[in-house]
Amino acid sequence: MPLLCEVAVPVPLARAFSYEVPPALAASVRPGARVLVEFGRKKVLGVVLATSEGAAPEGVRLKPIAAVVDPEPVLPPELLSFLRELSSYYFAPIGEVLRLALPAVEREDVRALEAQGELPGTLSRVKQVGGRKIAYARPTDAVEEPGVLRGQAASVLALLRSNGEMPIARLEEKFGNARAAVKKLASLGLVVTEEREPPRDAFFARPEPRDEPPVLNEAQSAAEARIEEALQGIGAQKSAAFLLFGVTGSGKTEVYLRAIAGCLARGRGAIVMVPEIALTPQLVARFRARFGDDLAVLHSGLSEADRHAMWKRVRTGAVRVAIGARSAIFAPVANLGLILVDEEHDGSFKQEEGVRYHARDMALLRAHRASAVAVLGSATPSLESVHLVRQGKLVELRLPDRAHREATLPEVTTVDLRRIGAGPTGNKLISLPLHRALEKTLAAGEQAILFLNRRGFAPSVVCESCGHVATCLACSVALTFHRARGGRMRCHYCDWEGPMPAACSECRAPALALEGLGTERLEETIAEAFPTARVARLDRDVADGAKAEAILAKMRAGEIDVLVGTQMVTKGHDLGNVTLVGVLNADAALSLPDFRASERGFQLLVQVAGRAGRRDRPGRVLIQTRNPEQPAVQFAKRHDVSAFLEHELADRAEVGYPPFSRLALFRVDALDEEVARRAAGVIAAHAKTSPEGQSRVVEVLGPAAAPLARLRGRYRFRVLLRAKDRRALRAATAAAAAAIPEIDRRVRVVVDVDPVAM
Ligand code: ADP
Ligand code: ZN
Repeated sequence: MPLLCEVAVPVPLARAFSYEVPPALAASVRPGARVLVEFGRKKVLGVVLATSEGAAPEGVRLKPIAAVVDPEPVLPPELLSFLRELSSYYFAPIGEVLRLALPAVEREDVRALEAQGELPGTLSRVKQVGGRKIAYARPTDAVEEPGVLRGQAASVLALLRSNGEMPIARLEEKFGNARAAVKKLASLGLVVTEEREPPRDAFFARPEPRDEPPVLNEAQSAAEARIEEALQGIGAQKSAAFLLFGVTGSGKTEVYLRAIAGCLARGRGAIVMVPEIALTPQLVARFRARFGDDLAVLHSGLSEADRHAMWKRVRTGAVRVAIGARSAIFAPVANLGLILVDEEHDGSFKQEEGVRYHARDMALLRAHRASAVAVLGSATPSLESVHLVRQGKLVELRLPDRAHREATLPEVTTVDLRRIGAGPTGNKLISLPLHRALEKTLAAGEQAILFLNRRGFAPSVVCESCGHVATCLACSVALTFHRARGGRMRCHYCDWEGPMPAACSECRAPALALEGLGTERLEETIAEAFPTARVARLDRDVADGAKAEAILAKMRAGEIDVLVGTQMVTKGHDLGNVTLVGVLNADAALSLPDFRASERGFQLLVQVAGRAGRRDRPGRVLIQTRNPEQPAVQFAKRHDVSAFLEHELADRAEVGYPPFSRLALFRVDALDEEVARRAAGVIAAHAKTSPEGQSRVVEVLGPAAAPLARLRGRYRFRVLLRAKDRRALRAATAAAAAAIPEIDRRVRVVVDVDPVAM
């Protein structure tokens, strides 16, 4: 019987392809290994998904595998089968999914490899990645006999104990004979030494002294005990998943650290996912303080070579903890025991292009399949997670109080923008109460954060004569005026930018006015009104990851008095001396055309409020709104997350949206409006005529124009499938997706399973 094998090639086609395995290669073709195969007229690198004995179907001649590239599979079996399941769940081509999981070098262009004479046995070039090794010394937990140590050995040990691990070369700068001292300490079991490559990453730039784990409070201990109990079961084909629900500052991170320690103690590895790794260096520092520098921090600032070196270290088990944003779900952690998702409610866990996966959902799936433990943590859990708790699929762990006893939750008041007017600046969004509160905060030498989720100077350019609003030519949205670089109009969707015209494009009247308030104008207005205050701004226009962190660091250091910004200000962890948080326009977030608007707005309000008064001084939050009665504002005011969740769940149940139903969204777009509309119609028809569609087990909504009806010149339509039953939805989605190959090539169709952005 010949040996066949299924190979995924890096092309956007849903299926894998069959090849024949020549007898000479039979022993070395294994799932997860890369092979060289002929595909069309080219040779490409593919990944073996499975092998089987059997004959090719009648009349089909399978091509043979040309070469096996890896002596060992590049992907561990656990990860490979997870990727296949992900691909199937999201209707995503397996080749595309594999691209997410393999660093570029691992799926490198075959011709480049051949040119370098690197095939087969490509891994040889990988070994060159990285540089020289250096020697480190770190203290052990052993205690010395009194009086054994004298002179430099005693000083070196004292330094190591206060700093944690240090390169021996650095010790030599301080102590002439550090090497001998380290040798002696090592022989006494007081120090261990290790040679390895130094991390070359900004996250590892400064040494991080080891910390002493604090004594856990009662709630933390209870949570730790439950997780510990679950970790004991991980070898035994058991898995467990938790929702760690604790207010900001309640000590969730400390619980994560204990969980990881428990996982490592069992010889297993962990994945930690955070919303935005660039904004969380403090978190990484806490991990280093506890576990040393053997962490893989996966972030977009890594060079390809560094990323690959990290990947290898994780793959081989040299590093057991991988921290990163959503893509860390693909880390090839060996012997996976734990997956943590911090701020699990955060929207960034959903990938919105290419393979549209949700990293939180996939964390639960991967942990379950690997019989590992999953912990989702949040101060404002998603309704999905709360629903899973109610279904008994997640175990809730509560941390009800802030860990620092003195730190209390801030007092939240609302400012009704319909009744309360502008302060001295004359701008309606800088109300009199907000102005006064800022004065008080600055006079006390404390810091303030002003949150406004609109970038730019003015959100719209309006003709005062005919009322026409300047809109983007390619997208159906208003252009934002930006003061920077001499004043330009910009589209926040397609990034088009152009000069402000002298007259209205409709009526030709030279009467264009800037309307509304963006962060750029807010910064300027505050700086003018409070000339002695140091005002800074944090939004996408001034800062990407690294710069954002620099601004937050200045804020922590007290070099900024008022920080103005978008969502980015809601994240940076502990901002020290902040006692006032102003939400300039809560309605902007709460009134979006999306069934999750209220949930998201609420999370935002609670998160931004959580920046106030984290230490000993009480904080104050002012929420400005035209509708102070709306539930999201009312519950945020009382810090009552549980009551909000209760209320919102009841609302969702009533309208039948997730988590009480499941959705699949087909996004259809084309340059021609009619072509796009027709294609959406074809998709909808296929869904409606599927058995599940006909029996109405699956509802088919649309086709309808998308809320943003035109983007980058393309007209957008949507077809939404909704059902209570997951299998039925899947079947109808498959039926509709089967129509895609028949559709006009000018049309782009994307399937979004469990969509988040509506
Ligand atoms: P969260 O992750 O829930 O926002 P953190 O873990 O960051 O909370 O804890 C908030 C603060 O309280 C941190 O400064 C942390 O070091 C401290 N902390 C946490 N747990 C304890 C504890 N058991 N005893 C003393 N301090 C603690
Ligand atoms: Zn545009």
